[in-house]
Amino acid sequence: MLVEIEKTAMSSEHTYVINGATGDWEIVMGLEVHAQVKSNAKLFSGAATAFGAEPNTQVSLVDAAMPGMLPVINEACVAQAVRTGLGLNAQINNFSRFDRKNYFYPDLPQGYQISQFAHPIVGEGEIECERDDGSLFTVGIERLHLEQDAGKSIHDLDPNATYVDLNRSGVALMEIVSRPHLRTPADAAAYVRTLRTILRYLDTCGGDMEKGQMRADVNVSVCRPGQYEKFILTGSFEHLGTRCEIKNVNSLRFIMQAIEYEARRQVDILEEGGTIDQETRLFDANAGVTRSMRSKEEAHDYRYFPDPDLLPLVLEQSFIDDLKANLPELPADKRKRFVEELGLSEYDASVLAADKDRADYFEKVLEGRDPKLAANWVNNELFGRLNKEGLGITESPISPEQLGGIVSLISDKTISGKIAKDVFEIVWAEGGDPAKIVDDRGMKQVTDTGAIEKVIDDLIAANPEQAEKVKDKPKTMGWFVGQVMKAMGGKANPQAVNEILAKKLLG
Ligand code: ADP
Ligand code: MG
Repeated sequence: MLVEIEKTAMSSEHTYVINGATGDWEIVMGLEVHAQVKSNAKLFSGAATAFGAEPNTQVSLVDAAMPGMLPVINEACVAQAVRTGLGLNAQINNFSRFDRKNYFYPDLPQGYQISQFAHPIVGEGEIECERDDGSLFTVGIERLHLEQDAGKSIHDLDPNATYVDLNRSGVALMEIVSRPHLRTPADAAAYVRTLRTILRYLDTCGGDMEKGQMRADVNVSVCRPGQYEKFILTGSFEHLGTRCEIKNVNSLRFIMQAIEYEARRQVDILEEGGTIDQETRLFDANAGVTRSMRSKEEAHDYRYFPDPDLLPLVLEQSFIDDLKANLPELPADKRKRFVEELGLSEYDASVLAADKDRADYFEKVLEGRDPKLAANWVNNELFGRLNKEGLGITESPISPEQLGGIVSLISDKTISGKIAKDVFEIVWAEGGDPAKIVDDRGMKQVTDTGAIEKVIDDLIAANPEQAEKVKDKPKTMGWFVGQVMKAMGGKANPQAVNEILAKKLLG
């Protein structure tokens, strides 16, 4: 499987080239994404994890690292990590282990973070990512491990003191490490976006980067053309440049900006004959630059060792199999099904599948109805209108049942597409059942050919010159179509109007 991934990774023609004074350079990137596990309680304690709570109100004795407290693994968090691993098409390890990663920081009361080093819960996998233009690329996943989050130091509340909020201390994180398969800043962002969509579908992480539910450490190196291909073929990192790691980038836009700046910085150093120091850097979003934070620490600096308070994590195969059997349909599969089974265009399918709430909404509108018509009403009319009002799909004043009702009325020819837009506006503003609105307000389409014929005969009689003109210039028949529609309040069946007019005017 690995060879397959490597081939797709290599065949990508999407490569970011920097034209330096001494020749071209390319970028190579691998990301470590920290995703907060969606769970009511922390990884090793029962304390709550709600966002925005008063500082230090969600801290158990374990999270505060009181002496003698013992961590107890939270099965719900383990299940979430396994579900995520399955969603990343990854190897689930029946045996994993928690290690202590030792370092000092004021918001880390234990003096170490409980993480997984040598034996992560999830091993190698791969995901198919989608670019803005709809093209696809594959990124290899190196591993996913579980670890605890630290607390938060607050420096701006008091000029003379730093406060510590431990609410986040002990919250479960999944660190998802990609292979260095990313070649452009846009692809790095597309990877994070795809990952976020998958996690949201799985409901294992909220994915809100502004709330810190997802953040990325971006590893960037540059090399000469051809070097990356050698790396892919041999697996040997010696073909790649030295990487710098940009810590905690918290938006897709910042990820792209940070990479562009960092790659350029490295190229400038190399072109002047310098070397890249492997270091940890921070992205300053205001200045648009990366700054050195510290030289890169090696694993041995942390003195990793198995946490003696915790037994190894041994998963029974039935536990994994149960979770696997209950996975929801994931975005890539949904997109394919929308195209193959519903006959939607690639574009419609990918817009609808790209967001779980949207996909859920669409599938409710769909129930037994014409897929293309349903997709068109959701993607164009509804999204267009929601965008205009700055509303999200979950805030739509029109429910999927109501929109489905409108779609049904068009399908069974009760109303035309044009009248449907009026019904849409009424339901948007006033609510109500579309079928009843159409009934009560006499909006039904007139398909009674006798009634249409009568209107047409009157119009021809009143406009003999126009009628003559149509014989020479058939296109001018449009004028009559418009007049009939106007006379019948837009309710005439357009197909019937055209047929009768053609018969009477063109013979
Ligand atoms: P660490 O914790 O020391 O940062 P990890 O193994 O957790 O190490 O993560 C390393 C990350 O850096 C991975 O995402 C990997 O793909 C990426 N990476 C490794 N070497 C390079 C390189 N030369 N250029 C760019 N990214 C790299
Ligand atoms: Mg790292």
